[in-house]
Amino acid sequence: MDERHYDVAVIGAGPAGMTAAMYAARALKRTALFEAKVPGGELLNTELIEDYPGFESIKGVELAQRMADHSLRFGAELVQARVTQVVPLPDGRHRIEVEEGPPATADAVIITAGGVPRKLEVPGEQPYAGRGVSYCAICDGAFFRGEHLAVVGGGDAALEEAGFLTRYASRVTVIHRRDQFRAQPLLVARARANEKIDFVLDHVVEAVLGDGQRVTGLRLRDVHSQAPRELAVGGVFVFVGFLPNTGLVAAHVDHDGQGYYRTDDVMQTSVAGIFAAGDVRAQLTRQITTAVGDATTAAVAATKYVEEEQAPRAAAG
Ligand code: NAP
Repeated sequence: MDERHYDVAVIGAGPAGMTAAMYAARALKRTALFEAKVPGGELLNTELIEDYPGFESIKGVELAQRMADHSLRFGAELVQARVTQVVPLPDGRHRIEVEEGPPATADAVIITAGGVPRKLEVPGEQPYAGRGVSYCAICDGAFFRGEHLAVVGGGDAALEEAGFLTRYASRVTVIHRRDQFRAQPLLVARARANEKIDFVLDHVVEAVLGDGQRVTGLRLRDVHSQAPRELAVGGVFVFVGFLPNTGLVAAHVDHDGQGYYRTDDVMQTSVAGIFAAGDVRAQLTRQITTAVGDATTAAVAATKYVEEEQAPRAAAG
């Protein structure tokens, strides 16, 4: 057997990928878990996890380490490489091309590549990225001790991370384009009860302002009256959602209007042998629990696919 051929290749080692690798390896499939950075995915950008059953409160980095150790315990191979393309081949296999080095092949592929933070796409955002504009509170929060910060967004991430940032900031202003929050009510209530957090609702960010070196403020606009307003802040943390990493497959894969892969009920995409789980998949909510659950289904289904469809095809061919 070719050294670089796997029964199952998992692309991306967040919670979904680590779970899929664990289940595929436990089913005694030769399994590769491809990851460009270190295993953990979004867990590494989250201070505390409070909604993963069995762990009332656990640091994201600790859960990531535990999942990584566990996922490799049954023989999955961690391949540290950035996957650039997954190419379905005529014989039913898939070629996995990586940034550096030779490609691998796999009978089944499970895409668990997550996403990247969505940008505001306003003037000043890009020039001040890393100089006051951030997309990760846990990575950058400590650089803003004693400063007034803005958080943009009204989802779980914005409300949760606003609370985290109050450890360092003197004040955190949450700016949201509506007066209703997408975030869970518990997170909204917690933020409202935090004396260091205030809200500017029904406003959009029109520009990030700076002095050439660092962020000094934001230009906002009231969505109803259109009145402009400036807010002086030392930094802005943007949590306006994710863009899924779904551009890897060199074939059309059915997706929804926002680019998330549509799958059937065993997580198979519209391309035979390519499965998806976690933040790349169209679904109601994106939680760690749903990622690991869907990844379990994907791994079991991929294993069946390898045994019942691809192996007989290879034997006949
Ligand atoms: P999200 O739920 O998609 O929320 C994005 C927020 O940003 C929304 O409030 C949206 O406003 C706003 N927004 C989008 N584009 C904008 C723009 N151009 N300008 C201004 N505001 C904009 O994203 P998320 O909070 O990153 O969460 C992503 C997923 O991870 C969700 O499924 C979430 O439940 C999950 N998550 C869960 C937890 C947890 O359970 N503890 C923690 C973090 C994330 P509108 O509401 O008006 O659309």
